[in-house]
Amino acid sequence: QAKDRGRNRFCFYTADMNVHAVAQLELEASLRRAVEREEFVLHFQPKVDLRTGLVTGAEALIRWPREGRGLESPARFIPLAEKTGLIVPMGAWVIEAACRQLRSWHDAGWSHLRLAVNVSGRQFHSGDLPIVVAQALARHDVPAGALELELTESMLMDDPEQTIAVLTALKRIGVQLSLDDFGTGYSSFAYLSRFPIDTLKIDQSFVRNIVTEPQAAVIAVSIIDLAHRLQLKVVAEGVETEAQLGYLRQHDCDEMQGYYFAKPMPAESFSELMVTAKALAGTGGRQTAAPP
Ligand code: C2E
Ligand code: MG
Ligand code: MG
Ligand code: MG
Repeated sequence: QAKDRGRNRFCFYTADMNVHAVAQLELEASLRRAVEREEFVLHFQPKVDLRTGLVTGAEALIRWPREGRGLESPARFIPLAEKTGLIVPMGAWVIEAACRQLRSWHDAGWSHLRLAVNVSGRQFHSGDLPIVVAQALARHDVPAGALELELTESMLMDDPEQTIAVLTALKRIGVQLSLDDFGTGYSSFAYLSRFPIDTLKIDQSFVRNIVTEPQAAVIAVSIIDLAHRLQLKVVAEGVETEAQLGYLRQHDCDEMQGYYFAKPMPAESFSELMVTAKALAGTGGRQTAAPP
């Protein structure tokens, strides 16, 4: 009897696993189709200069519009894209789309705007990242300094020789390099002095608790200090409250992004934000974007 129950449970469990496996395969198939048909969109979250209050640019964040499911968030499909290698063509599309958008915003008169894109580990080590970047910049006639690549500590720890080669090639092209989610990875100080990084992004887990947890505040302030002593720019991500903003400003953080100022939004909304901010600046209102 116990054996029967065990067998039943075993069958049930297997069936359950099959359902999961089938769902994964279906997801993979539709992700592959989406990559082929370039069915993604970018949303843009403004980055704001903490001294001037001006919008300096944005981070581009990928979204996958799926029939009947709305906008799928990257947390749902980036891991699978990484696992299957689909992240490489997907990431190339992101770079291409970001350069196209930069061209259009620069043409609209906002030539100071910079755009950051996220790069995944597999994309970074794929061998042709510098070529993909250089070609996209050239195709859209975008100045390299307007494009920023957000890298993570873990991808730089993999293969130090290759990492140096890729970073050097990217800096030769002239793009900006930043370290995303700083403080959550290996945080090896050795590579900070060896790798040609321009910016540190304080991870949101520290920013979230910056006014409530002394530990988080100490870490955030130390990252700001470390960045400045190394002549790097420092950006706080995930700023949600005025208190967090005040604390960061008081401690000399350079830029911030977060829901407190704006959530990621479609390109048209970002353009509207730039126009509105310019109008506000003209009337002496709260100035939030630089006039072109
Ligand atoms: P990330 O690069 O660290 O991006 C920041 C994430 O935090 C974004 O989530 C953003 O919407 C969210 N965020 C921004 N401000 C706030 C805030 O004030 N509060 C909270 N709670 N969250 C905030 P999103 O868009 O869901 O992206 C998640 C992650 O997916 C990104 O983390 C990045 O690692 C990855 N990702 C997004 N787009 C791409 C892409 O094009 N390529 C690659 N390889 N990864 C991407
Ligand atoms: Mg990022
Ligand atoms: Mg981040
Ligand atoms: Mg993150």
